[in-house]
Amino acid sequence: MSKSKEKRIKKLRDGKVWRHLVGMILVLVLYVAITALGLELSVGSVYASKATQCYCTALDVKRAYEARAALGDMQEAMEGALNNYLGVKNICIEDADGAILSQYGDSEIDMEHVIDIQSYLPEDDYEDIGEIVVEELDYNELLRHFLALDYHTREVDNQLFSVDSIDFWYKLPLSGQDGSIYIQTTMRIYLSDVIVLFSGFGINTLLAVLIIIWNILSIIRLFREQRKLTKLFYTDAVTGGYNMHYFYDRSRTVLKRKGKRRNYGIVDLKMVKYRNFCTCYGVEEGMELIEKIYERLRGMIGKQEVLAHAEKSDFALLLQYESEEGLINRLENMAELLKDLYPGQKLSFNMGIYPVPKGDRDIECMYNYAGLPLSSMSADSEQRICWYDEAMKQNQKWERMVENDMQRAIEQKEFQVYLQPKYSTKGEKIAGAEALVRWQHPTEGLLSPYKFIPIFEKNGFILKLDDYMITEIARQQAEWIAQGKQVVPISVNVSRAHFTRSDLAEHICGLIDAFHVPHEVIELELTESAFFDDRQVLIDTVRKLQNYGFDVSMDDFGAGYSSLNSLKELPLDVLKLDAEFFRGDDSEGRGDVIVGEAITLAKKLHMRIVAEGIETREQVDSLADKDCDLIQGYYFAKPMPINEFEAKAFSDSSVE
Ligand code: C2E
Ligand code: CA
Ligand code: CA
Repeated sequence: MSKSKEKRIKKLRDGKVWRHLVGMILVLVLYVAITALGLELSVGSVYASKATQCYCTALDVKRAYEARAALGDMQEAMEGALNNYLGVKNICIEDADGAILSQYGDSEIDMEHVIDIQSYLPEDDYEDIGEIVVEELDYNELLRHFLALDYHTREVDNQLFSVDSIDFWYKLPLSGQDGSIYIQTTMRIYLSDVIVLFSGFGINTLLAVLIIIWNILSIIRLFREQRKLTKLFYTDAVTGGYNMHYFYDRSRTVLKRKGKRRNYGIVDLKMVKYRNFCTCYGVEEGMELIEKIYERLRGMIGKQEVLAHAEKSDFALLLQYESEEGLINRLENMAELLKDLYPGQKLSFNMGIYPVPKGDRDIECMYNYAGLPLSSMSADSEQRICWYDEAMKQNQKWERMVENDMQRAIEQKEFQVYLQPKYSTKGEKIAGAEALVRWQHPTEGLLSPYKFIPIFEKNGFILKLDDYMITEIARQQAEWIAQGKQVVPISVNVSRAHFTRSDLAEHICGLIDAFHVPHEVIELELTESAFFDDRQVLIDTVRKLQNYGFDVSMDDFGAGYSSLNSLKELPLDVLKLDAEFFRGDDSEGRGDVIVGEAITLAKKLHMRIVAEGIETREQVDSLADKDCDLIQGYYFAKPMPINEFEAKAFSDSSVE
């Protein structure tokens, strides 16, 4: 699965819950803020309007008193004024010096609860107090005063549904005379006031509760969906068990918790010849076997260990171990317990182990490393369990670097053609050359083909490289011919990877013909190992190439698994004796005999002989005695850049 896809699924699995939580918190905060603010405003306005009512009453009482007092006795006037107003029980007259002149009612003035209306009025209006309209009062100020008063709740006296009552005294200046009047009023808050007050908040509260319930339900639903998705995300389609996503996530968690104190190893366990099994018994049966292996392995691992099916016949394991031998023994036992899972078949398993370094959490990379030893184990190898080592990692790094850079290298012409001359034994003059590639890497310097050709052979890039080399040689030969130089045949290596295409001969011919060079100046080297692939394609291709007029040589003859049969079936033009013939101790002369006989044999088959890797004068002399045609080796010359070859080959005396 691609990284971006994986990210999207992870987001789906992990996301959104926090949004609901944040939403819920926001709703709560908003609710509390709105409620607090609303309450303050509503309570304020209720109390203010009540206080206003009280004030109006007090004002009326004051006016009634003033009207009556002008007519007669002060006491009578107070009584008369009060009789008309419910809730006003006490009244008191004070002169300009603050002395109480008269009082009506049974309560003393509660000085602490006196609201001196004068202090709430602008200075100018003071004289004209009788005309003050209610709205001119600073109600908020008044209200704050009320609320700050240390009032006590009176017993609810015969007032139906009265929930609160506040007694306070208004002090009002008397019109037309010095002195003030104190009027005691009672402010009542009724249940109806409270209901009105809270009805607004009821809707508010209901809304908040609904939103919170919706959020909670959404979170529950999300959790359920995520559980389902997680299960799906972690499930392997073949075994129904865990897949590699689970392996990576779970291993990270286990290593985080336990990795510091215990040794862990990541194991890549692979069934050997799974493909053969599927070929014999079918893919369905193969998948069932994988499922069985998984089930059996599941019973063999501990709680703090992890197992997953990686791909095809590979399983990933994270295992704890005390000692390396202990882990090896355990894995051997596992293999033992797995081998009889399919009746009538002995199953075998290869295992690579990567010891997890403390603190490392890059599981994907470590699993990859665990698999590296497997690539060097053959299906029949004795060694079935192998620890990863550092060289494998370096190789892999190198391989990755080569693969990353190869396309750029060919486009930027970083591959350079080197030529190694072939010398004739008679006259010891340059009679040919072999084109050998070098890579002028921008950071790694000049690279030998051994460092990259095997990688290109694995990944197929060798096809492009060989085409490039053939083209470059054709171009070079054409240029030299045009300059009137006396060129020698140059051989180019054709990797065995090419022999999958049936039109290979036409393809090569096309590349060369683009430069209009005579075919006899280009030779094609095939390695003997190409013989083990599709023989018919090889034979057909060789025939076609020869018909086109190219010489074809068998490279590395005698190296690896040589088969004389290949000489019988392939009518080649040149035989290149591998350098191995000339290496090592030959005190008994056996190598010499074989070389001699190989040359005789080739001669009888009308082939020319090139001996490779010749480093000494003795070897040259011996080969000349045996009638070897050409010699390629460090004794005469190493592979060299084209300009050096040009200088060497086209000086008058060097070329035959
Ligand atoms: P090869 O085709 O067998 O080439 C001969 C190799 O032996 C060359 O190594 C050459 O430098 C080396 N050699 C020649 N004389 C001596 C000697 O006296 N002593 C020693 N020790 N070595 C000698 P090189 O150039 O490193 O190439 C290695 C291999 O890489 C080649 O072996 C060939 O298989 C492959 N290769 C090189 N260039 C190409 C190419 O363009 N295409 C393909 N497909 N393979 C190539
Ligand atoms: Ca060669
Ligand atoms: Ca060779």
